[in-house]
Amino acid sequence: MAYIRGLKCRECGRLYPTEAIHVCEYCFGPLEADYDYDAIRANVSREKIAAGPRTIWRYRDLLPVNGDRVIDIGAGCTPLVRADNLARELGIRELYLKNDSVNPSYSFKDRPVSVASSKALELGFDTLACASTGNLACSVAAHAARAGLRACVFIPANLEQGKIIGAAIYEPTLVAVDGNYDDVNRLCSELADQYNWAFVNINVRPYYSEGSKTLAFEVAEQLGWRAPDHIVAPIGSGSLFTKIWKGFNELKKVGLIDSSPPRMSAAQPLGCAPVYTSYVNGTENVRPVRPDTIAKSVAIGNPADGYYCLRIIQESEGGCAAASDPEIIEGIKLLARTEGIFTETAGGVTIACLKKLVEDGKIDPDEVTVAYITGNGLKTQEAVVDHLVRPLQVAPTIESFEAALRERELALV
Ligand SMILES: *Cc1c(COP(=O)(O)O)cnc(C)c1O
Ligand SMILES: [Zn+2]
Repeated sequence: MAYIRGLKCRECGRLYPTEAIHVCEYCFGPLEADYDYDAIRANVSREKIAAGPRTIWRYRDLLPVNGDRVIDIGAGCTPLVRADNLARELGIRELYLKNDSVNPSYSFKDRPVSVASSKALELGFDTLACASTGNLACSVAAHAARAGLRACVFIPANLEQGKIIGAAIYEPTLVAVDGNYDDVNRLCSELADQYNWAFVNINVRPYYSEGSKTLAFEVAEQLGWRAPDHIVAPIGSGSLFTKIWKGFNELKKVGLIDSSPPRMSAAQPLGCAPVYTSYVNGTENVRPVRPDTIAKSVAIGNPADGYYCLRIIQESEGGCAAASDPEIIEGIKLLARTEGIFTETAGGVTIACLKKLVEDGKIDPDEVTVAYITGNGLKTQEAVVDHLVRPLQVAPTIESFEAALRERELALV
């Protein structure tokens, strides 16, 4: 039994039944899951959660799924790492990294997709589909395999090899579209009107996006049931960012934490920074851009939740930063060098922006800060391959090894 009452328009508040719909018929506002929070408050407890599975499904009372069967391939309960080396390098006191690069399909997308695929089963769909910037394709294909659903996933044709292979291995119908993500998304929105498929980030988006709330729930639980002071997270479509915020607010609403929700700061690549641009210009509207960045997983020129991200940044008194391609690569390398975590380009954006936010005084050195590392570096090897120190080439002898060492030392000075 779940506590979802229906869907609610984020703009006009009209209520809708829990079906595969995502837009308000009256004002075209986005629909969002609506819960009976009093009932949740009466039934949820820290102990009950602690006794649950070691996946996102320990927070089931706060998720929108009613069916008996959930598709659980092990998303969630990823490490929250105290990052003292990186904190020292940046000049802040208490920094944590939520390492979501170690989910089953190697990105945080397993959280929303686990919820979306479970809801798709409950609603009686036989096909799971998506418009993907890469990681979503991998996750949808993996969850469909597990659920016994057909999968049809659409990606931009110029995706990194790691993401194409990471999706193709599960044998979905994989469609490489000649265009960027915004073209893929437009095509899928048209297809969603004609095919009776569950497009996880289109017609079942209200359920899909709820899965990202678990990124807030877990961090609060891992910190001993409190919210941090400051969050840094990347924005692609903006779903992740808005749902981390919703997650912390819900925890307070149902009495699981006492602390106020954190300040929320956003990270975007400079080559695709529509939210950052509005933030800097102080405008309310997010103007679409044409993406040109190595951070393909967040290269969304027309972010569906961009406007709501701006509002959250304002309301929470957070900040926003953007990182160039060289800074993204430097961010990936900085994280690897200091904390032993290999993230993809989106994580490089987050680390580079974290650094800027500290340097610009947007993050106070005394704030307990959490940065979200959303994807795995093995999927975007193209971005760093030309920026790494090559292996020493040696014959299997001590002489050869020592000669190579001497040569490298000479080359370094
Ligand atoms: C999809 C994605 C994001 C952005 O998520 P949105 O919900 O679209 O804002 C960030 N990081 C990675 C690694 C992603 O795959
Ligand atoms: Zn409405």
